Amino acid sequence: MNIKAQKGTKDILPSEITNWQFIEDCAKKVFNKANFKEIRTPIFEDTNLFERGVGDTTDIVNKEMYTFTKSDRSLTLRPENTAGVVRAYLEHNFFRESPPIKFWYFGPMFRYERPQAGRQRQFHQIGVEMFGVQDASADVECIMLAVEFLKTLGLNDLTVEINSLGCNTCRKEFKDELKKAIAPFKDKLCEDCQNRYEKNPLRILDCKNEACNKLFEENNLRNKVSGIKLCPECSEHYNKLKLYLDALNIKYIENPYLVRGLDYYTKTVFEIKSNNLGSQNAVCGGGRYDGLVETLGGEKTPAVGWAMGVERLNSLIQPIEDKKLDYYVVSDNQLEAVKLTKKLREHGLSAEFDYNSRKFAKQLEKASKIAKKALILGEEEIKNNFITVKDLNTFEQRKMNLQELI
Ligand code: ATP
Ligand code: MG
Repeated sequence: MNIKAQKGTKDILPSEITNWQFIEDCAKKVFNKANFKEIRTPIFEDTNLFERGVGDTTDIVNKEMYTFTKSDRSLTLRPENTAGVVRAYLEHNFFRESPPIKFWYFGPMFRYERPQAGRQRQFHQIGVEMFGVQDASADVECIMLAVEFLKTLGLNDLTVEINSLGCNTCRKEFKDELKKAIAPFKDKLCEDCQNRYEKNPLRILDCKNEACNKLFEENNLRNKVSGIKLCPECSEHYNKLKLYLDALNIKYIENPYLVRGLDYYTKTVFEIKSNNLGSQNAVCGGGRYDGLVETLGGEKTPAVGWAMGVERLNSLIQPIEDKKLDYYVVSDNQLEAVKLTKKLREHGLSAEFDYNSRKFAKQLEKASKIAKKALILGEEEIKNNFITVKDLNTFEQRKMNLQELI
């Protein structure tokens, strides 16, 4: 039997790993500077966590979850990590500490989706979550961090889109207006949108179905609904966010139809899109979720965060070449070769030797492929206690003793 990786999953090979490590290193650097702390939560959780946390009118919960039963317990591979982080925040009493509480994470997520370019069933997200700050300064901290992280990765050709979904009161009127505008062609919408119409009409605007999008255009939906009219408090919050972004020179586009796919967002939502990604062009999505901690059993706590798709980031970054080893030890004396290799490594240098003591020509050929310099330890060298160092770039050769070398 010829077993292959599952549809929608991918091996990340050694040839690609330098890019992944670069992304992770940048994340560590950028988030640590801003005092976000890394958190690693389990990959599977109680299914209830996502049903309640992500929301049972979302695609993620309705169609995309990997759910299984073990010992009568329903478990789910995490489709996203905000709910898991909130669970950990509550379970470990972080709410007792003085706010803000700031986390970041990096790890695999699982969604049963149709695999295509930029869309997998196991994919990775990097994200941040920030608890305890009501002011728009937290929203701007998160957006600023996302932009800085993307810049550190060398990605500049990106567009930040923002919107405010307001609170329940602000949304009520918009939902009614939206339903009224959609009513005449409601029956032609996809099955999902028909369900959303009653349960969560806002989400219709986030539909990825081409036929639905065509219907919206034909019926001029976007001109018939004006966007969410914000109450004074939500409006002040949104204006403050824009003021901060302007002051920080972070360019953004206001998109009144940006609603995001999850149920938990309140007030600010944002997406960062790349102009070089084709149709799956969102690299980052996030927003404020002031109701989620309470929904999951805690006190009402303001919170904001985002997640980025690492595969999509990766496809925008140039492949980074693997670093060569500092030294390759070329010798027909394995004992001396392994001793020297050990010493080099103890001094922080990267090194390898030939495990099979092949002919010198073969060893040098290998060395020139994987190392910057070859250290030749022949009979002569061992007898007289020196090493011949060969620069594999310039082919220059020098005699040195071990002390000089390290
Ligand atoms: P999309 O609109 O592309 O489906 P989403 O709204 O489902 O995205 P979020 O749940 O907000 O996305 O996740 C944040 C980011 O994670 C996305 O912007 C994207 O970069 C990435 N992402 C989401 N789903 C996938 C997937 N199936 N494969 C690869 N990356 C994904
Ligand atoms: Mg999605």
